[in-house]
Amino acid sequence: MKPELILASNNKHKIAEIQNILTAFRIISLNEINFHDEIVESGTTFEQNALLKCQEVFKHTSLPIIADDSGLCVQALNMEPGVYSARYAGLKATDQQNYQKLLANLNGVNNRKAKFVCVICYFISPCQYYFFTGELNGTIAINPSGTDGFGYDPIFIPNSSSQTLANFTAIQKNKISHRAKALKAFQKFMQNSV
Ligand code: IMP
Repeated sequence: MKPELILASNNKHKIAEIQNILTAFRIISLNEINFHDEIVESGTTFEQNALLKCQEVFKHTSLPIIADDSGLCVQALNMEPGVYSARYAGLKATDQQNYQKLLANLNGVNNRKAKFVCVICYFISPCQYYFFTGELNGTIAINPSGTDGFGYDPIFIPNSSSQTLANFTAIQKNKISHRAKALKAFQKFMQNSV
């Protein structure tokens, strides 16, 4: 039987991406443990938010937990939106509203360098938790394109490509993504600690 891990997220895209990468584990969603509280991401760093998500979920389970916090950091915008990526255009903003706001803020700006960052927190207990980071470097497109993925995928062109991430299949994205890199670091840690 595969070891079980609670994933502190309700984002269906993230759950699918993470389960596809962490094939050695059975990923249990928050719905499966009947956790429906809203977790306020009040941290100012990816690490703080990932830890906060684990701490909240830990109140409801004794299983090990992983949580990720991720976002897009744009060089010409002082590394914003960063931890505020999901609510860049407002608390209830759609993905499209967020990336349109970003494109508007970069209008006429030549430096379009950006990176996606993902921090995974692996939480066993309040005094035993670990962080793993992955980054994906790229540039912000002039116009959105592509229909796959989520969030800022339609405007992010990885350095290894000439297409936005929204033109990648899930399998292609999972080979290079910030989340995949952080999860691989986590997997390596788990293999070394057996
Ligand atoms: P989180 O759920 O607090 O980690 O919010 C992360 C936000 O960053 C998402 O809602 C997206 O807007 C953005 N984001 C993170 N990872 C990705 C990705 O792989 N593609 C596109 N946008 C992403």
